[in-house]
Amino acid sequence: MSTIFSKIVNGESHADIVYQDDRVTAFRDINPQAPVHILIIPNKEIPTVNDVTEADEQMLGHLFTVAKIVAEQENVDESGYRLLINCNRDANQEVFHLHMHLFGGQALGPMLMRR
Ligand code: 5GP
Repeated sequence: MSTIFSKIVNGESHADIVYQDDRVTAFRDINPQAPVHILIIPNKEIPTVNDVTEADEQMLGHLFTVAKIVAEQENVDESGYRLLINCNRDANQEVFHLHMHLFGGQALGPMLMRR
């Protein structure tokens, strides 16, 4: 079954796409948690990090190249940004199409909520 993110990749659903090539698509999160909040996804639907195979390594490495390009485009490369990937329930993964969050545009604070 196709996720909402696959529909965004195919152009069936609208998103504010900031970068796209034959392997990766990057678009603004619909519910931003920081002034800059971009989702960077493989065009191929991989549900979670647990489903990654060695055959995906090159394509997934490309996510980082795109993260760098998008950070420059959004003018947060020097100020700094955070890349984050959630996997399954304890990480609150909501969409089961592997994606990297790019957060920036403000001081992001500690990595995890303090207990
Ligand atoms: P997760 O918790 O799975 O790591 O993050 C999923 C993210 O996708 C959330 O930040 C949520 O706001 C975003 N999101 C969910 N549905 C859509 C959508 O249809 N369009 C866009 N642009 N973002 C979405």
